[in-house]
Amino acid sequence: MEKVLVLGGGIGGVETAFAHSAKAFDVELISDKDYLYIYPISIWIPTKEADFEDVILPLEEIAKRNNFKFTKAKVKEIRSKEKKVIVEYDDGRIEEKTYDRLVVAMGGVKKKHPGIEYTYSTCGSPEEMLAIRDKLHELIEKGGGTIAFGFGGNPKDPTGVRGGPVFEELFNIHFYLKKLGVRDKFKLVFFAPMKKPGQRLGEKNAEKMYDFFKKIDVSYKIGVKIKEFQPDGIVFEDGEKIQSDLTIFTPAIDGHPVYKNASDLPLNEAGFIKIDKYCAVPGTDFTVWAVGDAAAIDGPQWRAKQGHLAEVMGRIVARNIEKLIKGKASQMESYLPHVHIVCLMDMGPWGGTLFMRTHKRALMIPLPKIGHYLKKLWGWYYKNSKLGKIPRIPGFDAP
Ligand SMILES: Cc1cc2nc3c(=O)[nH]c(=O)nc-3n(C[C@H](O)[C@H](O)[C@H](O)COP(=O)(O)OP(=O)(O)OC[C@H]3O[C@@H](n4cnc5c(N)ncnc54)[C@H](O)[C@@H]3O)c2cc1C
Repeated sequence: MEKVLVLGGGIGGVETAFAHSAKAFDVELISDKDYLYIYPISIWIPTKEADFEDVILPLEEIAKRNNFKFTKAKVKEIRSKEKKVIVEYDDGRIEEKTYDRLVVAMGGVKKKHPGIEYTYSTCGSPEEMLAIRDKLHELIEKGGGTIAFGFGGNPKDPTGVRGGPVFEELFNIHFYLKKLGVRDKFKLVFFAPMKKPGQRLGEKNAEKMYDFFKKIDVSYKIGVKIKEFQPDGIVFEDGEKIQSDLTIFTPAIDGHPVYKNASDLPLNEAGFIKIDKYCAVPGTDFTVWAVGDAAAIDGPQWRAKQGHLAEVMGRIVARNIEKLIKGKASQMESYLPHVHIVCLMDMGPWGGTLFMRTHKRALMIPLPKIGHYLKKLWGWYYKNSKLGKIPRIPGFDAP
């Protein structure tokens, strides 16, 4: 039985381990945390609709229920030429792990900006979301303030821009403050350096979103680069400063330091792992694969790193490795036809909007009221199906 080593216990790594164990490989998943952090439903922490325990799943339990081994350790080095991975345990012990096939799913890291320490991010650790919650409630108790929401770009690889969660947090906080009857005590501001932030959802859809900002009294500054963050606001390259009591800023993601500094894998300019259309890393003779945010994603200009794509890639890798072993390499599948954007943008009690971008069209479907509950339902389904408590719904996880 071939040994498959999966690095990273996020949405992509867990699905990869799951898909391989279902095909009777000997699977070990290594991650530096003992839980899977479900980013898409973490957006409800600041508005107290979810707590830390609601947005995580213990990896040991997922592993037990789905027949693979979980090891909590930090990956320090990837030596693909020697088919070895160096890991460090919490007690400082170092070990060399070997494999027949390696799937890298350790995601990326946030891009650095001057003064980033004065901001709070929606795409960091659960602790950062808890800090946003506490700061928001501190301001509510104080009687109001200015909250600035923004996201940054990565000119070396635009696929890691995280716009959706920032819009979601903005809408959720707006409706939460309204519910509490204190919205008029707050000024909400949106900022981003791109000329048309959100345009990967479709040009017209982005404009509709700015119209919605006006409707809910959110001012915005777009198209000007951020110079630096300060304790009391954001300074832009045109000299303007937005005063802010709470700056929620989500940088784009960049390649992980392990890929950049401690691996012999081929990388793109931003430090993401190069893959071919089968998700295999070129030059490794199909022994190393990469999925999800870790990989340099190819495809149309609007392509984006997303959780659903990470899952599709994990399943494709399992099927491709199986085909290789059975001598059916010519039947291996490409991930490229699955590069879509599917985003159910939560807007709190108002509902939500479904954005879909495919090779053929860009759709925006408002889902008043029901959108919010559909996202909640997805979260419930995701957790329970990963723990094997409910069956997977064919089509829901497709392909
Ligand atoms: C707030 C938010 C909301 C989102 N909402 C949506 C949505 O609605 N729909 C959607 O499709 N996508 C959404 N996304 C994007 C989606 O969450 C990511 O694309 C997805 O999590 C990528 O999964 P991944 O497994 O590739 O990487 P990650 O989730 O980043 O997982 C990487 C894993 O590797 C581990 N790791 C890192 N370094 C090491 C190391 N040195 N050693 C061992 N382990 C390590 C980490 O702890 C982590 O478990 C959202 C993202 C954010 C931030």
